[in-house]
Amino acid sequence: MGVREEKLLQTYFGYQHFRPGQKETIDFIINGKNILAVMPTGGGKSLCYQIPGLALEGTAIIISPLISLMKDQVDALQALGVTATYINSTLSPEQQQTCLRDISLGRYKFVYVAPERFESSFFMRVLRRIRISLIAFDEAHCISQWGHDFRPSYRSIIPQLQKLPRQPVVIALTATATTEVIQDIQQQLHIENVVNTGFERENLAFHVVKGKAKRNYIASFLNERKSESGIIYTATRKQTDTLYDQLKAQGYSVAKYHAGLTELERKRAQSAFIHDEKQLMIATNAFGMGIDKSNVRFVIHYAMPMNIESYYQEAGRAGRDGEASDCILLFSPQDIQLQKFLIEQSNMDEPGKQAEYRKLQAMTNYCHTHSCLTAYILDYFHASSETKCGRCSNCVERQEKVDMTEEAQKILSCVKRMGEQFGVGMTAKVLKGSKDKKIKQFRLHTLSTYGILSAYTEKELTEWIQFLIAEQLLATEEGKFPTLKLNQQSVDVLKGKRKVWMFTAPIPANETADYH
Ligand code: ADP
Repeated sequence: MGVREEKLLQTYFGYQHFRPGQKETIDFIINGKNILAVMPTGGGKSLCYQIPGLALEGTAIIISPLISLMKDQVDALQALGVTATYINSTLSPEQQQTCLRDISLGRYKFVYVAPERFESSFFMRVLRRIRISLIAFDEAHCISQWGHDFRPSYRSIIPQLQKLPRQPVVIALTATATTEVIQDIQQQLHIENVVNTGFERENLAFHVVKGKAKRNYIASFLNERKSESGIIYTATRKQTDTLYDQLKAQGYSVAKYHAGLTELERKRAQSAFIHDEKQLMIATNAFGMGIDKSNVRFVIHYAMPMNIESYYQEAGRAGRDGEASDCILLFSPQDIQLQKFLIEQSNMDEPGKQAEYRKLQAMTNYCHTHSCLTAYILDYFHASSETKCGRCSNCVERQEKVDMTEEAQKILSCVKRMGEQFGVGMTAKVLKGSKDKKIKQFRLHTLSTYGILSAYTEKELTEWIQFLIAEQLLATEEGKFPTLKLNQQSVDVLKGKRKVWMFTAPIPANETADYH
């Protein structure tokens, strides 16, 4: 059977070798075993179901939440001489009917459908009638409540599948999965085995840029990277519009994409970017899921996203061809407020919001850590990692090591004296010796640590506190306004048992201007 798979890879797809994890995944399916494949974006997940789909008798059903991608996938398969189709809401009822009839006659090797399709009793009747080679759940994290893109329609497929006369072999695919999500997918879809190739994308260099005027940064960056294809993600539609107008006025070749545009506008923008007619895509996170554009050389986040899952997925759209590419996050403290606001406004229930705040804290820590950024991300996904990637901004741009133990002790003892009742902002104010009304109100000006670091700006102090949190030398209590708490490491620092090193001097106050 192995030889046959290699042959299919060569004759249909023109590739000589399988990528890591592909062959193993394919073998499971060919042997009738359910499998979950966790591979990074660009890892080649589609082949994992396309090759067994070709090798096995019957029709492969691929469930995908991405209507925009279905047509591309079907076109690509048809170009290879494979019978493939899709059914979704973009087809007229007549087209859908013809399509379903052809499916019921077994005329297709591959059928792409949106999850909602399983709610149609007609579709289910067709499925009961045909021979199904396999069922693929693309973007399988959508099935899990713990994932960052939960879709209830995905989960409701499961009882529908149970109604089929023969249980088809199931393959689930995802690029982003924490241990929780992996286990959830396994449980939901009865999958015993997982092929996990890990997350590390060795061609990506991560950078966090702080304390720079964002637009100036982008202007000088684009100046150096003329004619390279890149995506700039913003946090809101308004930011997309503003940045797009500005870059367009400066003569850049830009397209924009967000949910406020018409479907036609979005389609055109996406196509212009994919076909290299436009160099830059300015977009909200509505853009990109499943986009297969291989030569994206950089992804810039104009503001910090809500969590590491989204960040890694969006940033990961760079360098799908394996060439060196950059993922740059432009951080400003206001980004945290904006994300908190978005969580607050969402229609999640209280436990859901708390979970989001927790994830937001991990994202904030990413922006403040002085450790290797790649290692930080891999750690977050519980994936094993080398200690230092040697590519990210923290590995490359590290300046002199500065002993900050004394300042850290002052900050920690201030947290203690404030009764571990306050958050980052108030603590920075007390350390600064601010005249803020609230300080008086809570009688914090009477503490011995009031004004103990008054030589520094509130911004610098905030940055240091965030750094201590990121390095887990200080804890936060979950919630919208996380209060600072001491942990065992804080105690060690206070007792002089542990030193605190910072790799970069704090950002001078006059560079922290932020122009949104
Ligand atoms: P994913 O869905 O994991 O993000 P895709 O399935 O879209 O990735 O594959 C990404 C790119 O890699 C595609 O252009 C695909 O044709 C290519 N590819 C997949 N497998 C191989 C392989 N074994 N050898 C070379 N290129 C491959």
